[in-house]
Amino acid sequence: LSSHGQIDVVIVGGGPAGTTTAIALAKAAPSASIALLEKAHFPRDKYCAGGLGGRGEKILLSLQAMPDVPSVPLTGISFRAQPGERAENLGTIGRVVRRKEFDHALVQIARQRGVRVVEGAQVESLQDATVVTSASEFHARVVVGADGVGSVVRRAMGLGHGLWRAQVLEVDTEPVAEDRDRATIHFDLSDRTLNGYFWDFPTRFDDADLMCRGIYHVKMDDTPVDLSARLGERLTTMGLDLARYKNKRFSERGFEADLRLATSRWMLVGEAAGIDPLTGEGIAQAIEYGAMAGPFIARVLTGDASLKSWTDEVRRSRLGRDLRVRTRMLREIFGPHRDQAERFLLSGNGAPLRTGIRHFAAEPHPPADLALSALRAGVHFLRSAAG
Ligand SMILES: Cc1cc2nc3c(=O)[nH]c(=O)nc-3n(C[C@H](O)[C@H](O)[C@H](O)COP(=O)(O)OP(=O)(O)OC[C@H]3O[C@@H](n4cnc5c(N)ncnc54)[C@H](O)[C@@H]3O)c2cc1C
Repeated sequence: LSSHGQIDVVIVGGGPAGTTTAIALAKAAPSASIALLEKAHFPRDKYCAGGLGGRGEKILLSLQAMPDVPSVPLTGISFRAQPGERAENLGTIGRVVRRKEFDHALVQIARQRGVRVVEGAQVESLQDATVVTSASEFHARVVVGADGVGSVVRRAMGLGHGLWRAQVLEVDTEPVAEDRDRATIHFDLSDRTLNGYFWDFPTRFDDADLMCRGIYHVKMDDTPVDLSARLGERLTTMGLDLARYKNKRFSERGFEADLRLATSRWMLVGEAAGIDPLTGEGIAQAIEYGAMAGPFIARVLTGDASLKSWTDEVRRSRLGRDLRVRTRMLREIFGPHRDQAERFLLSGNGAPLRTGIRHFAAEPHPPADLALSALRAGVHFLRSAAG
């Protein structure tokens, strides 16, 4: 094995969590040596619908790191559940990107900021300060696990797969007549046997307007769910045949509030740590982890923080609070009071849905919508407590 000398920080994984960590760290500690190890060669694909809320985009803009890649701009979200359907259109709220180009562009930005990116470097094991790939060894003061759902760093920390695991299957098809307009992403929660939903997101491939359609299901008990059969049935109602398209199947990991996210040498960010289990949204979360991790690691390198305090840093942050609330909502929405929860989301003349959309977009909330959503939420929780 060839050995690379001492490096300040080794980041494992070149998805949005790893690249944002690298970019934010290069800004906060310009003299730090940073290596980013990625098992694939860019441009590489990542199974993902590519829905990026304004929140993630704003963080990247603040780091002057928003990639200029083809995308479909979004202005609205539509939501279907058993009690009905509602759509809200609020102006620019985010975009749909293709991960192949988006992740590649972020890696190039990281390189321009002085990060040493090593492609084709699959990390196989970790021993304290040593990170071992098939060809080399890297010695680091800090190792960041940004290696996604199958994280090797997480495994080395002795943490399991996680409590909130979701199974996901997606396909890219041609549009059909009943699709919403191309600036709207659609969620369909009307199948109550799913702890999750179907989605239809606009996307573009090779200059063709396509739709990314998928199924998301969080495992909350032992009841088996056949994702292919379910998605196949839904596509059939649209006149589409699942077997005609490339089936892209993957899993996701939700955040767990009580989990230890760091040791004295290693720390986790992005999906290796855990993302939103309620919707499976993870790109903006990965970016937010990275933007926090950069300045935090800079403090660790100067001795002003201990790496172990990363767990508390995440818990106290906006992201940590947000992920805790979403985990609680998961049990509420897919639990015994689902009917009431769906009614709540569709209620208040659309105020709860608009509040959710503005949260995704990181736009300010008009006080009237916020008050109405809070009132509706209060009524919902009292009813479900009474129920
Ligand atoms: C089908 C599907 C649809 C989704 N749709 C959306 C969506 O529309 N919007 C949204 O916000 N989120 C979506 N998500 C979730 C989102 O894709 C992830 O949460 C997000 O990519 C997490 O980013 P990350 O950087 O933490 O991990 P990843 O993007 O998974 O990046 C991890 C990187 O680490 C590399 N790696 C892994 N192991 C090693 C190793 N041992 N050595 C070196 N490198 C390694 C991988 O090759 C990869 O490049 C979707 C997920 C799925 C599965």
